[in-house]
Amino acid sequence: MRFTFTEEQEDIRAAVREFCQKEFTPELARELARREEFPWELYRKACQLGFIGIHFPEEYGGGGYGYVEAAIVAEEMCRADSTLGTALILADIGCDVIMHFGTEEQKERYLSLVAGGRGLSAIALTEPARGSDLAACLDTRAIREGGEWVINGVKTLITNAPVAAFYITLCQTDLSAEPPYRGQTLFIVEADTPGLEASQIKDKMGIRASPTGEVSYSDVRVPDETIVGQLNRGFYHALAFLDESRVEIAAHAVGIAEGALDRALKYAREREAFGRKLVQLQAIAHKLAEMATKIEAARLLVYKAAWALDQGKLDPALSSMAKTLAGRVAVEVCDEAVQILGGYGYIGDYDVERYYRDAKITEIYEG
Ligand SMILES: Cc1cc2nc3c(=O)[nH]c(=O)nc-3n(C[C@H](O)[C@H](O)[C@H](O)COP(=O)(O)OP(=O)(O)OC[C@H]3O[C@@H](n4cnc5c(N)ncnc54)[C@H](O)[C@@H]3O)c2cc1C
Repeated sequence: MRFTFTEEQEDIRAAVREFCQKEFTPELARELARREEFPWELYRKACQLGFIGIHFPEEYGGGGYGYVEAAIVAEEMCRADSTLGTALILADIGCDVIMHFGTEEQKERYLSLVAGGRGLSAIALTEPARGSDLAACLDTRAIREGGEWVINGVKTLITNAPVAAFYITLCQTDLSAEPPYRGQTLFIVEADTPGLEASQIKDKMGIRASPTGEVSYSDVRVPDETIVGQLNRGFYHALAFLDESRVEIAAHAVGIAEGALDRALKYAREREAFGRKLVQLQAIAHKLAEMATKIEAARLLVYKAAWALDQGKLDPALSSMAKTLAGRVAVEVCDEAVQILGGYGYIGDYDVERYYRDAKITEIYEG
């Protein structure tokens, strides 16, 4: 058993850290969060440095690395800034489905597009009537007509809508399938396909530089070539995506927790109360120690889950445990960070309140 990163992995971590130190500023994060705008310039720069799609194969514009390296990128970016980091690491959301189940043409077209800084991906599973319960008969239907598929329906709470270049969309293709999830299929629908409309959902609690929106499909016609993986196996492909993606979400949760701890520790070393630095007050020191302990436990689980994926050992329970623990830890640590900063913790200028709001989503999306 070895609990160390390789030299190359440490180099990747150092490179991401350097990029964030140079490019991420709290002012930019606050401004984009206020305007609810995606950090396009940062995305293109991160692509040039190979951070987006680092785990895609090299022939499709990726870095040829694995999930451990993807977790390192997510952790470092979200530690440096929860808002900017989250937006960037979600730039390639859903692409794992194409990477594992897509055709050669789909991989060449879409993976290189996202990793090359030319457009964001989106995966549209959730509908107004169901998020967790995707096994039910979906309201978004794709019906075969005249040698094509005609899609009608609405997807909601979709990351990167309305600015994504394409939407990987889960549709009910066999209305009589029993159970219904055996009749679902994934299609890649490009944003400019006639009949597709996307709009932004505003005023989110957090991650406000990562757009979230609604996508509606009105007689959207797509050919067979847009199917990802197998017909009527979309539910299974989506579950496989979630098992991998949850590890990345868990890594970004750990990063947010670390960023909040960094800020709380810095403040506690500077602020004085009752003639001593806050950090010298035992009750505060205990809080900081507990925050660090929780983060370390979550971090170990996250990297174990990422390592297992890289070994080809898809373990849904391990991915889910990593995400559940890391999400909870992120929220708890941010809560304590706000408390340690006292009144200033509640004020935007000190950023921990933003980390707190950004942390909560890690307990909600992707189940
Ligand atoms: C910012 C943001 C970004 C998102 N991005 C995407 C995206 O890119 N693509 C996408 O498809 N979706 C996305 N979602 C949707 C997200 O994945 C769903 O909101 C989530 O899966 C929960 O589904 P729901 O909201 O329908 O809640 P519901 O499924 O209605 O659940 C409501 C509550 O009941 C609980 N619950 C549900 N089932 C059970 C059960 N069997 N036992 C016990 N408790 C249960 C849930 O945990 C939750 O607490 C996003 C959501 C947000 C807020």
